[in-house]
Amino acid sequence: MLELRNLPFDPNSNAVVSKEACDYHHGKHHQTYVNNYNNLTKDSELANASLYDVRGSAQGWLFNNAAQVYNHDFYWDCIAKKSDKSSELEAALKSDFKDFKAEFINSATTLFGAGWTWLVYNPNTSKLEIKNTSNAATPVTDGLVPLLLVDVWEHAYYIDSRNARPAYLEKFYENINWDFVSVAYEWAKKEGLKSVKFYIDELHPVASGCCGGGCGCSH
Ligand code: MN
Repeated sequence: MLELRNLPFDPNSNAVVSKEACDYHHGKHHQTYVNNYNNLTKDSELANASLYDVRGSAQGWLFNNAAQVYNHDFYWDCIAKKSDKSSELEAALKSDFKDFKAEFINSATTLFGAGWTWLVYNPNTSKLEIKNTSNAATPVTDGLVPLLLVDVWEHAYYIDSRNARPAYLEKFYENINWDFVSVAYEWAKKEGLKSVKFYIDELHPVASGCCGGGCGCSH
C-alpha cells in the first residue's frame, strides 16, 4: 500500500501553484494515481513491493499509475521553494547547454499533448540532457536520472493560467527549488540510478525483511 506523500510546502503560499490548483492536482489527480496503484496491487505479490521496482517492471495501466505517483512526488519537490543552484550544477548547466532556460522552456512549450519535461543526468556520458516524455513515461526507464521536472499536463496549469502554458512555465522557472535539483545532481553523480531508488524508498518505505505476517512485524 502506498500513501500519498505530503506536499513539501504550504499550498496557501506557493509561488508556482495556487491553493485551488494544489487541491485538485495533489488532492485529486495525484491521490487518484495512488489509489489506482493500490487497487491494482492489493491481494497480489506486488502489494508489498517497492514502488521503484514496480515502476521498473510494470507495463500498461499499472506502469502508468506507478510512474505518475513518482513523477508527481518529484515535481512537488522541484517547486517547494525558490532556492539557488550549487556552483557544481551551475557549471554543468553552462557547459552542457548554450542557454539552459531557453532550451528547457522551449522543450516544455512544444511538447505536444500531455507529458513532462525533465532535466536528467546521463550516467553513461556524465552529461546533463533535456528530455520530454508523453503521458506517464519517465526517463528512468532509459537509465537516466531525473534532476528537475515540470508537469505540462493541462491539469497542471489550467486552473491558474488557463491555456497559457508559457506563462505557467515562466512562473515555474523563476521559482525552481534549485537546492533540491543540486542535491539530486550530487547523488546522481555518486550513485547513478540507485539515487532514484533511495529517493522513492524514502518517500514510500518498504518493510525490510517482511515475512508476510509470520514474524510479528506489522505486515
Ligand atoms: Mn500532474
